[in-house]
Amino acid sequence: MLPSTGRERGLYDVIVIGAGPVGSYVAGELARRSRNVAVLEQHEAIGKKAACTGIVGRECVERFPVAKRAVVREVRGARFFSPSGTSFTLQKGAAQAYILDRQAFDEAMASDAQTEGAEYFLNTSAKRIAVSGHAARIEAASPGQQVAFFESKAVVVASGFGSDLPGSLGFRRIGDFVMGAQAEVESTVEEVQVYLGRRFAPGFFAWVVPTYQGRALAGLLARRDTKACAEAFLHYLEAEGRIASANTPLRFGGIPLRPLRRTCSNRVIVVGDAAGQVKPTTGGGIYYGLLCADIAVDVLDRAVAANDCSAQRLSEYEKRWKKLLARELRIGRWARRAFERLSDRQMERLLRTLQESKATESLLNAPDFSFDWHSHLILRALWRLGPRMVASLLRP
Ligand SMILES: Cc1cc2nc3c(=O)[nH]c(=O)nc-3n(C[C@H](O)[C@H](O)[C@H](O)COP(=O)(O)OP(=O)(O)OC[C@H]3O[C@@H](n4cnc5c(N)ncnc54)[C@H](O)[C@@H]3O)c2cc1C
Repeated sequence: MLPSTGRERGLYDVIVIGAGPVGSYVAGELARRSRNVAVLEQHEAIGKKAACTGIVGRECVERFPVAKRAVVREVRGARFFSPSGTSFTLQKGAAQAYILDRQAFDEAMASDAQTEGAEYFLNTSAKRIAVSGHAARIEAASPGQQVAFFESKAVVVASGFGSDLPGSLGFRRIGDFVMGAQAEVESTVEEVQVYLGRRFAPGFFAWVVPTYQGRALAGLLARRDTKACAEAFLHYLEAEGRIASANTPLRFGGIPLRPLRRTCSNRVIVVGDAAGQVKPTTGGGIYYGLLCADIAVDVLDRAVAANDCSAQRLSEYEKRWKKLLARELRIGRWARRAFERLSDRQMERLLRTLQESKATESLLNAPDFSFDWHSHLILRALWRLGPRMVASLLRP
């Protein structure tokens, strides 16, 4: 039971916790369907604190309302650096992905949701959620203000990775995750660069991604010593003349690498990074989060109309998003684990073989090549290399 003192707000149909892209999308779509929606966001400004490179595939931009003003650049390819520093470029004729200004993207999503009628409470952190037979009750706190209580028929937990809320509601914590570190740097690099190998990002990768004129985002993912790895990477880039200065503040963020086993319960749906709906290959979570948000909107809209937000009714959400993503997540996770085990020597050999056998071009030009769906590509690459070659590549 939550205490009953503090400011009371009215009963909403749905309260969304977190004004990231996923939360704002859910709020906007439900408001557009005339649902009475509130969004609670702990920060005083939207999108300002997001540590994200903002790369999304073409499919995401075509399917979801990505504001034009948030699109900084299009991406046709990338230059990959092997552990020994040799590089090769993979490029397509048309844009495969877009680099978004994450703050502008989040702001536009929130502004669209407000235009549709969603009510935003910034500087308002959800502390506890109690679910009863007739409603969900949320205790929220704002710095220097009285505690406020919100009630709704259903709650959407879109509070991103690392939030305590799913755990406090009985959902298990996501144990498999990686930390990202990134800095905005001065740079004249005009191509997306990806650095592979144990030197900078053991088991993962590092990047330089150009944004506005003369600027870029440089960062990496690592399970351990993320700060030290990122600092070493920035110093390397500075020494190579690819960025102006290594002394740039870093931002950190966690990325879940496997989803929650359960993502809904009585009156509650968990979505986006909070649910671990992220590509395990690259850590990109915007598109998968939005795809799952779409399913959440449809299920919630009908559940509210039927005045039935029971766990059984909301379980349709979980069935549908798992049907859509389970295979991708399973194969992606398998590939990620294999990739993490590669030594630099094995990685070097793998890259050389893919290059020499022209497998990279053939994968890139395959009709089902996709920035967002990797399971086909992974299976196709394995098939192309054949079991003998794979075994020899994995020789220590
Ligand atoms: C370094 C790095 C680079 C990345 N690059 C990419 C990329 O290029 N492409 C890509 O697709 N993904 C990328 N990601 C992942 C991407 O950032 C996430 O998948 C995406 O932000 C998930 O959106 P979300 O709305 O689920 O959560 P978030 O964007 O994390 O939003 C959650 C919101 O909830 C708020 N909140 C949390 N707790 C509470 C509370 N108790 N009460 C109120 N509000 C709360 C937070 O303040 C936040 O605003 C990257 C991540 C990192 C760390």
